Amino acid sequence: MMNIVAIGAHPDDIELGAGGSLALHRQNGDAVRFLVLTRGGELSDQSQREREARTAADILGVDDIHFLGYEDTRVPYNDEIIKRINDHLTAVNADRVYVHTEEDTHQDHRRAALSSIAASRNIDEVLAFESPSTRSSFNPQYYNSLTEDVLEQKIEAIRAHESQSEKKYLEAEAMKGLARFRGRQANTRYAESYQVIRIKRANPGAPIAHGTTQRP
Ligand SMILES: [Zn+2]
Repeated sequence: MMNIVAIGAHPDDIELGAGGSLALHRQNGDAVRFLVLTRGGELSDQSQREREARTAADILGVDDIHFLGYEDTRVPYNDEIIKRINDHLTAVNADRVYVHTEEDTHQDHRRAALSSIAASRNIDEVLAFESPSTRSSFNPQYYNSLTEDVLEQKIEAIRAHESQSEKKYLEAEAMKGLARFRGRQANTRYAESYQVIRIKRANPGAPIAHGTTQRP
């Protein structure tokens, strides 16, 4: 069993970038936790965004969701946030962390990537996910093959973010197209793709238990 942590700047980022892979991790019996750096949007919508995030996490079968409470558009990249993320990863004994990519036009996503990567210095496996604001310089090297069921679960989790309703509907459709495109690159039907920040193995001859396209 692996301990998985996914770190997103806003409610919905994790579902968009890694929702299918995380649902697969749960199916495989791994523990999955969400760490969300902001509560998203204006102060008045925050409790709703947080509720939606919890619903989405439930749809994916996620064990735990934790909010760090930074202000939307002001996710920092400094010692304080790095220590807070690092403390969380240490407390849950993380084996693999899913993070934002730096190749993103949104300042929160970029700083979330930098802070998360610095905080994951001692984690064996760190993979960066894409988002709708990811730039074309995002070059994936790692793919998780998704079943149709898991892709549907991902779409449903994205739609749980109802307060963004119109946008969410389009995004859910786009996510299907993206999963098909990434699947084509990986010779499978549907996939999510990642940039490898680090994959560390104690023994290079050992089977890659979690690194195939069959098992996330
Ligand atoms: Zn975001």
